[in-house]
Amino acid sequence: MTSAIAQSQENFTLLLAANKIKWFRRQLTSWATLNLREFPWRTTTDAYAIFIAEFLLQKTSANTVAPIYADFLTRYPTLEDLATASVAEIAILLKPLGLHFRADRLYQSVRVIIEQYDGKIPASEAQLLSLPGIGLYTARSICANAFAQPLAILDTNVARILERFFGLQGNRVKSRCKLLWSAAEYVAPKTSVSRWNLTLLDFGAGVCTARNPSCGICPLRSQCNYAKINLDMNHE
Ligand code: SF4
Repeated sequence: MTSAIAQSQENFTLLLAANKIKWFRRQLTSWATLNLREFPWRTTTDAYAIFIAEFLLQKTSANTVAPIYADFLTRYPTLEDLATASVAEIAILLKPLGLHFRADRLYQSVRVIIEQYDGKIPASEAQLLSLPGIGLYTARSICANAFAQPLAILDTNVARILERFFGLQGNRVKSRCKLLWSAAEYVAPKTSVSRWNLTLLDFGAGVCTARNPSCGICPLRSQCNYAKINLDMNHE
């Protein structure tokens, strides 16, 4: 996937002016100083706690996950504790989050980590991707948040911001769109990528929302492709 990402960078490099990218980073970095949300998994460096959070956050909102996450870590504070649990016990704890297959995949992943990685959360994207239930987004999130690796992420929030602001058009299934993955990597800063990823997630959840984005108060508005088109249409 990584080489595919690198190869497709040529497809859009010309579309993204360097100055616009710098401005985009600056505006969002400034926005984040006042607006990043606080969640317990964002203030820990414990790879296990971050691994659990990323599993629970799959297709589930952070506010929904927060109370379940606290209960989960109280019950299973370490990977060794979790390794003693049955699938059924994990499923009961995770039931309020939906996605019934999540418990089974988490259980299977823990087995692999115990057997192949000596009970330590793997610290590479490729190793994480080999675990049941871990896709590219989750693997990269764990690498960035738990191991401070400079790996950008792409989810529907990030895809929406990139498409709107830069005027990109990704595929229907954003999570598999090489163009958008390339864009996400290209616009990310070289350092503090974990914080950058969280910034995009929170900006997409709170400002550049799927429905009724808050363009009127958005710090990106003056250079946003989407806002320009919609404002122009409203003034015709
Ligand atoms: S101006 Fe509107 S569409 Fe553009 S980034 Fe901001 S909220 Fe999103």
